[in-house]
Amino acid sequence: MLADQQFLRIPGPSPIPPSVQLAMGKPMIGHRDQEAKSLIKQLKPRLNPIFGTKEDVLILTGSGTAALEMAVVNSVEPGDEVLVLVSGSFGDRFTKICQAYGIHVHRLDTKWGEAINPKDVKTYIQAHPNLKGVFATYCETSTGVLNPVKELAAVVRNHSDALIIVDGVSCVGAVPVEMDNWGIDILVTGSQKAFMLPAGLAFIAASERAWNRIEENNTPRFYLDLKRYRDNIKNDTTPFTPALSLLFGLEQVLRLLETEGLENVFARHRLMMQMTRSAFKAHHIELLTPDEAASPTVTAVKPTDFKAEAFRKILNEEFKVSIAGGQHQLKGEIFRIGHMGYCSPADVLQTISLIEIALIRIGKTVELGKGIEAAQKTYLA
Ligand SMILES: *Cc1c(COP(=O)(O)O)cnc(C)c1O
Repeated sequence: MLADQQFLRIPGPSPIPPSVQLAMGKPMIGHRDQEAKSLIKQLKPRLNPIFGTKEDVLILTGSGTAALEMAVVNSVEPGDEVLVLVSGSFGDRFTKICQAYGIHVHRLDTKWGEAINPKDVKTYIQAHPNLKGVFATYCETSTGVLNPVKELAAVVRNHSDALIIVDGVSCVGAVPVEMDNWGIDILVTGSQKAFMLPAGLAFIAASERAWNRIEENNTPRFYLDLKRYRDNIKNDTTPFTPALSLLFGLEQVLRLLETEGLENVFARHRLMMQMTRSAFKAHHIELLTPDEAASPTVTAVKPTDFKAEAFRKILNEEFKVSIAGGQHQLKGEIFRIGHMGYCSPADVLQTISLIEIALIRIGKTVELGKGIEAAQKTYLA
């Protein structure tokens, strides 16, 4: 095995394109210098199409959770009633952040592996007229579910005055999102998933009606005060020192996305999802999520006749392929394959091929090549 080879197929952090890696190695600049301003000035408008918004997309230095917390502390106040839509561990994280700030949390749980049903949300919010915010997860990374946020936002908008706040950390940049048209009030993502960068940057945008609430919000906050970021970005700067190396990398990421074309980026992710799913179906290995709810960025597999953890160990020890295990209640029950960002159908074919070997190693009777053939046919279809 080559000592420096590593196949990162977890749902984040994801692999970094070589050109992005190189861009991040540029010499440091002063964050208040003209060069930094010019950089932010030209990055700014290029984030809008990815979020589907005309509002400024603000850049925060921190992991994705910093931006989730930022969304909470700026949009709702201690004592407010909110609804958190929980379809897995990241929905659960939103409840914990809200609870940490003394917010009155209602939660609507769905079975892990299933998507939130907008009809259930409608019933819930009609029975709870005082909700100030509804928190949703676009791609629930722990289960590989892509929640119907367009429909969820519509239900919230049509039946309450609550803000609809969406965690898009593991899919924005890989799937369509039209923040303005769908009526999403706050949308958040991070750098280490579909954005093909290391962890350290987060992106957040707010709607006009969200800004009105943010202005009036009295929750104590300093580093995470969205208003500071908004006031600074107008002058092409950030309130605090940004992760400049990641901004150098971001410039190259945006160039890659623009060169491929966002529609093609989305199509590539859908194709990788379909190829991955067809391979496991060909081997009659159960998938956690139904086709309708599957995310283009991560696939969760639920083996019934072999151990997920032992299987992951073989893949890692023999080929340095990293795939993720299950979280919380799904620990040991599933494994998850990331196919987002710097990942192509060619990578998917390689991963499936190595997975077939690992299946033999773990003692499962499989016909070699059957999954690859299914994925190849999906590719060619
Ligand atoms: C990765 C992820 C986050 C953020 O995690 P950090 O470790 O804080 O970057 C948040 N939400 C979802 C859905 C994620 O996949």
